[in-house]
Amino acid sequence: MLQRSFVYSPLPARVVFGTGSLGKLVDEFLELRVSRALVVCTPEQSHLADEVAGRLGGQCVGVFPKAVMHVPIEVAREARDCARHVGADCIVAIGGGSTIGLGKAIALESDMPILAIPTTYAGSEMTPIYGITEGREKKTGRDVRVLPRTVIYDPALTKSLPANMSATSGINAIAHCVEALYADNANPITSMMAEDGIRSLANALPVIVQHAEDLDARTECLYGAWLAGSVLAATSVALHHKLCHTLGGMLDLPHAATHTVVLPHAVAYNASAAPVAMVRIARALGADDAAQGLFDLARQLDAPTSLAALGVSSADLDRVADAALQSAYPNPRPLERAAIRHLLEDAWHGRRPRPMAGMI
Ligand code: NAD
Repeated sequence: MLQRSFVYSPLPARVVFGTGSLGKLVDEFLELRVSRALVVCTPEQSHLADEVAGRLGGQCVGVFPKAVMHVPIEVAREARDCARHVGADCIVAIGGGSTIGLGKAIALESDMPILAIPTTYAGSEMTPIYGITEGREKKTGRDVRVLPRTVIYDPALTKSLPANMSATSGINAIAHCVEALYADNANPITSMMAEDGIRSLANALPVIVQHAEDLDARTECLYGAWLAGSVLAATSVALHHKLCHTLGGMLDLPHAATHTVVLPHAVAYNASAAPVAMVRIARALGADDAAQGLFDLARQLDAPTSLAALGVSSADLDRVADAALQSAYPNPRPLERAAIRHLLEDAWHGRRPRPMAGMI
């Protein structure tokens, strides 16, 4: 189907990309017309936050090194109090999706601009999507106030991301591109970006798992991650993201690894209903078939391919299948409980996705 009827509404973010671009931090900070930064990071990355604070000098009024996965509301409240207490007028978030998510939780209530410096391939820095976890429930929403105003992508900062995390984070980014290609609101620009994103990530990830410090491959992956985050921001997500969100929220699973296991199966489920997207995904992977190509890529990267290996019990699969059907959302193929349950069973075992799963 030709995409010749569409709405495209690009978001207003400034992207500064390239090795050494962290050196442009002070200029970019001043460009935002702010003067009092609160730097946020995870405990593991506090050395990076200290480096950022050092570069900002007197323009850094505090470091909050307590970001954790899924932005628990208690941490968000503490970070907001800290930002108020130190009189911050800008958030500088350096790290992965968890850190950028915490920056967004602060911005949501304060209107402070965010300058994001991503160090994984999650893509949150390009989206107006936020998520805050209260109890066991992660509430997500869209608000342009949380969209980082400036993003500094410096591939050198990703060299320390271990091979296994690079692989799953990279496939998480590929998942954004895959669902953008069959989104109900896809457009020619997002589809070009998505296909190129898959190509860049699929080409560079095998190099990175062998040579974590290869700067060319790191650059290619971060470029792909930028494209992936951009298309995630502009298009709706479907069954794959719904299943990962459900699994992650219900069973507290690692975000990127869950995406890695589920993606080939969600693609196989949708294959018959999205043939043009499948051709583009397969072409970008250099594979004959989209779902099989994604499964082979995960295997080549030595990434997880089974939900059982992530600690999921087979007794949980029915609950997950039910939850995935609870609310209506766009998906190329209608949501069929029996086939979704098969999909989860295959993912749990770590089986190869079923060819033509659309025919079950
Ligand atoms: P993460 O941010 O939780 O990082 C995982 C670990 O890796 C942390 O300990 C972190 O300190 C460490 N780390 C990060 N970069 C590193 C580096 N270069 N070298 C060494 N260690 C490094 O993981 P993530 O996968 O980036 O983010 C996952 C979170 O992001 C989830 O909560 C997910 O829901 C959210 N997310 C949100 C969006 C959005 O648009 N809102 C998009 C994608 C993901």
